[in-house]
Amino acid sequence: MSSSRTAPVPDAELAVRIDAVEARMTAACERSGRDRSEVRLVAVTKTHPPVRNEALLEHGIDEQAESRVQDLVGKARRGDGVTWHLVGRLQRNKARDVVGLAALIHSVDRRSLADTVARRASAAGVSQEVLVQVNVGGDPSKAGCPVDEAIDLVGHARAHDDLRVRGLMTIPPAPPADVDPNEHARPHFARLAELRDAARDRWPEVEQLSMGMSADLEAAIESGATIVRLGTALLGPRQDPPWEPR
Ligand SMILES: *Cc1c(COP(=O)(O)O)cnc(C)c1O
Repeated sequence: MSSSRTAPVPDAELAVRIDAVEARMTAACERSGRDRSEVRLVAVTKTHPPVRNEALLEHGIDEQAESRVQDLVGKARRGDGVTWHLVGRLQRNKARDVVGLAALIHSVDRRSLADTVARRASAAGVSQEVLVQVNVGGDPSKAGCPVDEAIDLVGHARAHDDLRVRGLMTIPPAPPADVDPNEHARPHFARLAELRDAARDRWPEVEQLSMGMSADLEAAIESGATIVRLGTALLGPRQDPPWEPR
């Protein structure tokens, strides 16, 4: 059999990192009485070249994310068995590019964006799954809607026929240098879980909690995360200069 695509270089370090991540996730699940199958691992591959996406896929990690639309489009165009997630800020004028291509858009944080994504989904004849991003820490440098507007935004977004709001997402404020990232993030994750519970009481399909990154996945899982988004723990430091689609 011949293939025009070069096989990925075997990446021994990747296998070691995946094992370490699995051990951390399993331990956090055990501590909180949860089953490992309740938590989806999404690999955040921003800045890394497509060969690393292929390597992750070979290890069975088929849910992968980018934070910029153009990177997601550039990688997804190559076509392979990846289920794509968009985890970064989305501009309304880029919604058309990502609707239908990303299985889950984690970053719907305002009504106008929900409306645009819904319109693009209708035009494309797809039903788009999204999460509402909440700025639980009220951190002005972070995206996400304010906590006290989150339930309203879920209600607004889910009223569109072609949007399916599956849950909430957050990025907690960065911890100060001398503070344990897990302990710093824990109250913010608890806040998002409470909001999700309130939303789910009204709308049972709002069940996902996308929270937890490389430094704080333990607190996230112990607080009920159903999706963790991991970059550095799987792939090491971001590539510099970053990979850019041609
Ligand atoms: C980059 C990124 C991640 C992964 O961060 P790590 O600390 O490298 O695990 C997760 N979520 C979002 C939204 C990101 O932009």
